[in-house]
Amino acid sequence: MDTHFFWFGNLMVLLGIALLAAATIKVTALLKRLPNRELHYHWQFLRVLILMFIFGYAGFSLLHWGNYHDGSSMIVPTIFFGGALFVLWVCTLSLRTTKVVQTVYHLQKEAITDPLMKIFNRRYLDRRLQEEVLICRTGNRPLTLMMLDIDHFKLVNDRYGHPVGDEVLKALGQLLMRHTRHADVVARYGGEEVVVLLPNTCGNEAHVLARRLHQEVAQLTVPLPELNRPPRPPLTFSVCIGVAGCNASNADANQLLAAADMALYQAKQNGRNRVECCPDLRLAANTS
Ligand code: GH3
Ligand code: MG
Ligand code: MG
Repeated sequence: MDTHFFWFGNLMVLLGIALLAAATIKVTALLKRLPNRELHYHWQFLRVLILMFIFGYAGFSLLHWGNYHDGSSMIVPTIFFGGALFVLWVCTLSLRTTKVVQTVYHLQKEAITDPLMKIFNRRYLDRRLQEEVLICRTGNRPLTLMMLDIDHFKLVNDRYGHPVGDEVLKALGQLLMRHTRHADVVARYGGEEVVVLLPNTCGNEAHVLARRLHQEVAQLTVPLPELNRPPRPPLTFSVCIGVAGCNASNADANQLLAAADMALYQAKQNGRNRVECCPDLRLAANTS
């Protein structure tokens, strides 16, 4: 027997097993990065298939241990090795692609998210506002916008300190995310002002939502740190909300923001802790 063929044939199959084992490690790493959805089951199934191939390779290796005598008997071990290399390559590339896509996704998310309030930032709002105004104009869909400002927020900072002020902003951001639709855009406009853009929403609906948000904020409590003082009751606060809208005939991003800002100003003038709509809200954003 030519020992070169003997060792080469066995080595090919055994290396194939090692490559497939390495592929299962890559798939396991990939599974940890995937959300728990349908894709998970597909990759789990693929991992089971690879394990079955490993058993198949091992069985073949035992049955054909001494059967490699000439060049033609090298064909199957070589195909086995090539197949395993291919599987490992595909799994490695899939894992690397997933890592790159996830990094890009996180960077993109970071670039449009306010780090404190965990809502969208002004950059994203500006872009989406332009897009939604265009959809409103061309698709004849109503568009409404709320501008929200915390009442006497300076007092909160002065009385309880900036960290508590930050907690108030975080709690407000979470509340707004909980009570708006996925299609709505909740964004920090600046300081303690938030804009909620409501695509395909008529004036009446926006007014109802603004009132609901106003009430929810009134019921929101923010725990205060104890700081060696006797426990204090949790902090409550109020907001003013200005609501404005537009339709296909008068859609303009700057005018919409200005109208909501004007309504917000009116709410502050009228004593704070209230919702005000721009005077022609119903006409401006009528039902589609
Ligand atoms: P008004 O009812 O008229 O809105 O009164 P106000 O005190 O809320 O007035 P104003 O809008 O002028 O005050 C905004 C304050 O928000 C001033 C600033 O110190 C505070 N602020 C802005 N950004 C942050 C932040 O990221 N964290 C904290 N803690 N405070 C902030
Ligand atoms: Mg304020
Ligand atoms: Mg303000």
